[in-house]
Amino acid sequence: MATVTLRDIHKSFGDTDVLRGVSLDIADGEFVSLVGPSGCGKSTLLRIIAGLESQSSGQMAIGGTPVDGVRAADRNLSMVFQSYALYPHLTVAENIAVPLRMRQLSTAQRLPVVGSFLPGASAANNAISARVAEAAETLEIGALLNRKPGQLSGGQRQRVALGRALVRNPAAFLLDEPLSNLDAKLRVHTRLEIAELHKRLGATFIYVTHDQVEAMTMSDRIAVMMGGEILQCDTPDRIYEDPSDLRVAEFIGSPK
Ligand code: ADP
Ligand code: MG
Repeated sequence: MATVTLRDIHKSFGDTDVLRGVSLDIADGEFVSLVGPSGCGKSTLLRIIAGLESQSSGQMAIGGTPVDGVRAADRNLSMVFQSYALYPHLTVAENIAVPLRMRQLSTAQRLPVVGSFLPGASAANNAISARVAEAAETLEIGALLNRKPGQLSGGQRQRVALGRALVRNPAAFLLDEPLSNLDAKLRVHTRLEIAELHKRLGATFIYVTHDQVEAMTMSDRIAVMMGGEILQCDTPDRIYEDPSDLRVAEFIGSPK
């Protein structure tokens, strides 16, 4: 589990300032949603936290440790994308195993022998299979392990993407609009499951959505973003009852 601390994070692409000084303290095990209109910088912020993008300035720490310069693979975070980002030629089991294989590979690269000749390689493979089965069980996709993504429904694909995030037992989950490709009914169902998963794992969740209702029902706190800034970060009740300004009120739909 981990705290996530952001201090005055700025990000520019060319002349465009996409993030204009974002500061945020996320507690260990907290579920925080980043909400705001399309283009306000939510995905960019999440990608910076994940280490997939670097900030132009500002500091960030995960679990109290500064992570600037730490590679994405070494941050002990799992990111779930809107597009699921599954490998079409791999089975469900192989897709879920990818983070563990990458970890295995990077360990092998640090040793002076080739990975497959490592003593204990087959024990490691068994451990990977067991972890994959466990993650699949949690998400109720144990029966789908030998299928390819093309043989799955949208909801099932999303579970595989969640399984792949779960399998490495990360300190924090970063989810970027994970439900936006699902139909309305499945969206509500999966939303409840993600909330349940958060409760069960006790891990830190940072959840990006442009859907304020989704954020209101799932979050410990909501950070309302607009134009590359966090306008307000507070509990759903307080955001709704006491929005800091008109833009927050309008976005959340508070009574005026
Ligand atoms: P959101 O997720 O809130 O919809 P994004 O973080 O994806 O917003 O994008 C914020 C702004 O940054 C947008 O104007 C987008 O066009 C711009 N942007 C994002 N990524 C890049 C990039 N790699 N290069 C240039 N501009 C980008
Ligand atoms: Mg986005």
